[in-house]
Amino acid sequence: MGSSLAGKLARLGVSQVQDLLFLLPMRYEDRTRLTEIGVLRPGMRVTVEGYVDLTDVVYRRRRMMLCRMSDGSGALLLRFFHFSRAQADGLKRGTRIRCFGEVRLGPTGLEMVHPEYRRLAEDADEPLEDSYTPVYPATEGLGQARIRRLVSLALERLAANPPPDLLPQNITGGLGFPPLVEALVYLHRPPTGASLALLDEGRHPAQRRLAFEELLAQHLSLRMLRRKVRDRASPRLESDGAQLRRFKRGLPFRLTGAQERVLGELLADMATDRPMLRLVQGDVGSGKTVVAAGAAVVTVAAGYQAAVMAPTELLAEQHCRNFETWLGPLGVRVAWLAGRLGAAARRRALEQIGSGEAHVVVGTHALFQSGVEFARLGLVVIDEQHRFGVHQRLALTEKGEADGLRPHQLVMTATPIPRTLAMVSYADLDTSSIDELPPGRGQVATVAVPSSRRPEVLDRVRLACRSGRQAYWVCPLIEESEVLQYQAAEETAAALSDALPELVVGLVHGRMKAGDKQSVMDDFKAGRVQLLVATTVIEVGVDVPNASLMIIENSERMGLAQLHQLRGRVGRGSTDSSCVLMYQPPLGETAERRLRVLRQTSDGFRIAEEDLRLRGPGEVLGTRQTGVMQLRVADIMRDRDLLPQVREVADRLLSGRSPAITRILERWVGDAARYGQV
Ligand code: ADP
Ligand code: MG
Repeated sequence: MGSSLAGKLARLGVSQVQDLLFLLPMRYEDRTRLTEIGVLRPGMRVTVEGYVDLTDVVYRRRRMMLCRMSDGSGALLLRFFHFSRAQADGLKRGTRIRCFGEVRLGPTGLEMVHPEYRRLAEDADEPLEDSYTPVYPATEGLGQARIRRLVSLALERLAANPPPDLLPQNITGGLGFPPLVEALVYLHRPPTGASLALLDEGRHPAQRRLAFEELLAQHLSLRMLRRKVRDRASPRLESDGAQLRRFKRGLPFRLTGAQERVLGELLADMATDRPMLRLVQGDVGSGKTVVAAGAAVVTVAAGYQAAVMAPTELLAEQHCRNFETWLGPLGVRVAWLAGRLGAAARRRALEQIGSGEAHVVVGTHALFQSGVEFARLGLVVIDEQHRFGVHQRLALTEKGEADGLRPHQLVMTATPIPRTLAMVSYADLDTSSIDELPPGRGQVATVAVPSSRRPEVLDRVRLACRSGRQAYWVCPLIEESEVLQYQAAEETAAALSDALPELVVGLVHGRMKAGDKQSVMDDFKAGRVQLLVATTVIEVGVDVPNASLMIIENSERMGLAQLHQLRGRVGRGSTDSSCVLMYQPPLGETAERRLRVLRQTSDGFRIAEEDLRLRGPGEVLGTRQTGVMQLRVADIMRDRDLLPQVREVADRLLSGRSPAITRILERWVGDAARYGQV
């Protein structure tokens, strides 16, 4: 095989012959029988056979070739936008052809756009396919035909060199799964008579057999990763509790029961000599930051440093202030490190971090860039974790290791992770939940309003601000371009200033310098700005209790989790708040469902489940980009009934130190070295 083909295959995760067997079709086509043109309906994907009546090259807006064919039962138009002279010549009147494609309703009746077609000899008996035709995930420069040929070659070698069945026999038998080889052959070559409906839904036992193994591989890889990390030593972070008591006494509020419990769970982990790997989940506004601060207090009291990392500068800055306010009086020195620090300030910060003069360091991912050396790092806190992948996250603590001691790791997320998902995606972490909001929080009423009712929305803003409250106005999300995004925000801010001349309107967007952003936020926090116009930069973490009104424009373009986060910016004080979801009609089905869910509930868990259902796990977790959880066969929602058994089998394999583990990981997770190294 040439290196160019090898490169293309590598993009599909195929590096050896056996991988081809595990490159499974995404769907199937039935080319085993002919369909009469007379019975075609739009949406059918079928094979038809007949004679060309007429072929013409025409110009309508663009150049195209139209070919009319018929088979005695009816006529069908074939439409081609890309074609050669030779193709047009080859489709002369009277030519016998067979074509496969999707039927749709065109301007003049039923048609197929770019069908696959083949000319047939006038009298020859041309056999049809004898099994369903698999459609594989293709890649640039590597089309279906080529992949099918390669898979055929692999299938031919299967008998001589079958891949081993790595699942315990009694399990697969008990679940009604076929043996591995049988499942593979079936999926690459479903015999005529197989249920295409079942296959398309991914619910055939042969598919479930493979989905099970893939989910098992994902789960195992995280558990192995966890074991590797937990094999390392960590500093015991214990203190006599005096500092912690002082810290709590100094807070302007009492911790909730849930906060106390979770802090206790963290401290118990940190007091051992094994790295803590813990996820704290809690809905927006549940008060995660102060819990992390408590953990930092104990870390510092034990003579170590804590690093606190947030995904945006705005949020990091806010954390930094909170930590300074809460921990400063205890004599804890808090340092700041972000990307856009001046050279001198950066040098100074690095010195303090390296000498141990800084006890707590707050910042963005700049905290873990090269050149940053901690004196004695004991705790790494990662806020709003869904933006980091598993490996990125673990690499952080690896970097922070000093004298052979791994820092403890605390991950905080406001996107509750549905249990099903957690098992496959967060099996490396223990979980704590802050399942109680601080007392005295007002309700947030949520309404959806078409953009045509903007004047009423403006009235609401006016009213809220007149009574001394403040409001957010979140601008439309423009995915294509950051520049357009901030221009839109600037225009919105200008328009709102005109419409509401009595109000002070501020603007923050992602393109502003950190300092400018901060000063606008400060003005808003202090009440000098009444209406804050923002792009979605305020999504994560901004905390201004006096703001009681959230307006979100073009909410139909945003995801559920994002909307929930944005809404969580209000309802932080004791007055009742509202959230207005403006939308541009007509609403699509999914968008409508999203807005309905938001109106009905503010329960983060329900919203997360619903989000998972509407968007799929990769997007919910933000892992699609980082490639952590690209499932080939399995679908977490669809196959979630398999998960309890997946866990059971994983437990069994792990406790028996089964050699099958490595082979399962190699087969499904690939790049197994990655898991071995951490
Ligand atoms: P999140 O969990 O969304 O990160 P924060 O940590 O930003 O929430 O906390 C939200 C707000 O609630 C902050 O103003 C914080 O000071 C406040 N807060 C946290 N815990 C309590 C509590 N026990 N009682 C009252 N207010 C609290
Ligand atoms: Mg937070």
